[in-house]
Amino acid sequence: MFENILPLYGLNSDETTVNLFGDGLINHTWKVTAGGQSYILQKVNTDVFKNPSDIDKNLCLLKDFLSKKDPDYLFVSPVKALSGESLLNTPSGYFRLSPFVEGSLSLNALTKEDEAYEAAKQFGKFSSLLADFDAETLNITIPDFHNLSLRYEQFKTACANANPERMEKAKQYVDFINAHQDLVATYLSIVDHKEVPLRVIHHDTKINNVLFDKDYKGICVIDLDTVMPGYFISDVGDMMRTYLCAATEEETDLSKISIRKEFFKAVYDGYMEEMQDVLTDTEKQYFSYAGKFIIYMQAIRFLADYLQNDIYYGAKYEDHNFNRAINQITLLKEYIKIEKELTAPLSSSAEPHNQQHAQ
Ligand code: ATP
Ligand code: MG
Ligand code: MG
Repeated sequence: MFENILPLYGLNSDETTVNLFGDGLINHTWKVTAGGQSYILQKVNTDVFKNPSDIDKNLCLLKDFLSKKDPDYLFVSPVKALSGESLLNTPSGYFRLSPFVEGSLSLNALTKEDEAYEAAKQFGKFSSLLADFDAETLNITIPDFHNLSLRYEQFKTACANANPERMEKAKQYVDFINAHQDLVATYLSIVDHKEVPLRVIHHDTKINNVLFDKDYKGICVIDLDTVMPGYFISDVGDMMRTYLCAATEEETDLSKISIRKEFFKAVYDGYMEEMQDVLTDTEKQYFSYAGKFIIYMQAIRFLADYLQNDIYYGAKYEDHNFNRAINQITLLKEYIKIEKELTAPLSSSAEPHNQQHAQ
């Protein structure tokens, strides 16, 4: 396969080494080294991204804007092949080649709050540099990705058509989701709010989508497939969901699910370092809602999939999605329990919006 792809970039496949690289879950990723230069070669996952050229067009628009806005900003995007295209549609699939960021490393787990700070700062910087870019000119690469209202409707449909045994087993968790519908209402009021604009949002802020240098300072964000118009709560919320707890969504020992308060502060400080003057006062009031928004949505998605016999996520074992749903519900409960403590050290403009939640 590579012998057909690499020459399209002017690389001689006999003089090139190619190795699988990184821990990405969506695309196929290889490190390619040729003549002292390294690249990241990716085959785009077209099950997830139905129209890869939408991503490519987005990246071209953003690259053009950012090169003028801040020529020093490291925007890692695909290079052009000999044909002039930055995405190649080949018989083996869609491919793209980006410069490898030398001296970079990525983390799969966060152990230090400084790392959370650095990552949040990079995601904040990305949205901040693009604050004047018209987000609505971007293609939507995954429709309704973070549309909580739609996800909730899909959850209700899943309940109505649920596997009866699974519904019986999941009843108390279904009740929990329904008892927290106010989170959907808050989402809808955010979408409708004039003071909460659509922005250029990364939409996949997990920690291994940031590159660090050897001293664990953030270099840049990567994995730009889901960069689309959205709300800042998506990026902040997914950082909360994935940075605050030392255990992942796969953890089944619920006693290990707790919130590292200092990581919340680190995400806030890092993100606000870049976004303080960009976010509206209204957006700032939804800072802590962001965590509930994404954790709740993920719980809904796992539970809906369990009720529908794992048709979307699949399952490595019988109760996989059930356990992941309980994990996320536990995380949400922990978050709600200490939300006031989390927000207490923040500046007054980020005090939470007045929201009441059933516990
Ligand atoms: P995900 O599961 O997060 O969606 P993905 O399959 O879309 O991941 P990427 O995140 O784009 O794949 O890349 C996978 C990994 O490859 C990254 O986590 C990072 O370690 C490494 N990587 C990607 N691009 C670069 C780059 N330009 N320079 C150095 N390393 C990179
Ligand atoms: Mg990634
Ligand atoms: Mg990705």
